Amino acid sequence: NSQRPKEYWDYEALDIEWGEQDGYEVLRKVGKGKYSEVFEGLRTGSEERCVIKILKPVRKKKIKREIKILQNLYGGPNIIKLLDVVRDDDSKTPSLIFEYVNNTDFRVLYPTLSDYDIRYYIFELLKALDFSHSRGIMHRDVKPHNIMIDHEKRQLRLIDWGLAEFYHPRMEYNVRVASRCYKGPELLVDLLDYDYSLDLWSLGCMFAAMIFRVDPFFHGQDNYQQLVKITKVLGTEDFHRYLEKYGLRLDPQLEMLVGRSWIDLDYPWENYFQKNS
Ligand code: ATP
Repeated sequence: NSQRPKEYWDYEALDIEWGEQDGYEVLRKVGKGKYSEVFEGLRTGSEERCVIKILKPVRKKKIKREIKILQNLYGGPNIIKLLDVVRDDDSKTPSLIFEYVNNTDFRVLYPTLSDYDIRYYIFELLKALDFSHSRGIMHRDVKPHNIMIDHEKRQLRLIDWGLAEFYHPRMEYNVRVASRCYKGPELLVDLLDYDYSLDLWSLGCMFAAMIFRVDPFFHGQDNYQQLVKITKVLGTEDFHRYLEKYGLRLDPQLEMLVGRSWIDLDYPWENYFQKNS
């Protein structure tokens, strides 16, 4: 982004061009998030399906960030397409209009996927992340809930760019992003100048859950326990080297919980596989 024009990343300066809300009809509710209610809809007077994401009241700045990012990434491989942005005349409630994906819930789909399918979908997800990262944007909320798969069409789309952010070298970011089970260690140890690699950790958590059929793979009850779960599998040797490299000190309580452990090289990875899960 340091080499891109300011208007590319300066989302606060975005002037939103509002479309016609009457151009869309709500059909049925498909999801509910922290920041929105999501409906399947139609372009009025046509058979064209779409998704209408009605935003809950949040800061204008956050809405602009999501829109600017979706516009910058429009047309990239496996990036959900933002088709329109509309708002209610009276309440001024904004809605984002997206392409529709006939998604199968991951709890139903993932257990049925073959080894090849998993490689295929992970590759599709990597294409989306590679594109986004090469455009200076981190997603910061990669998890199964945000990956829509139409298995019949073998089509994957990365959705929910509401937490995504532009990457600027040495900038310090909020560590309260991503869902707990997909949070990278940088978030759990308060490393503020994290980068794109955060998304790769989340992808790795998903990948492990898919191949070992354990969902989620690292399942902490709180942020401290999340780090404990990670170090129990991967050991603390690399972890302590990491803390030293970045000059980080753990909260003494967290340090005690994590303790010292070694990765058990004699423990076969197959043992993580959970049958009939
Ligand atoms: P969260 O609180 O989980 O971050 P959010 O309010 O930001 O959610 P989204 O994650 O964008 O909202 O959407 C919520 C849900 O709506 C999704 O988990 C999914 O089930 C459904 N959904 C969103 N976009 C689409 C789409 N393009 N096609 C099909 N379903 C969708």
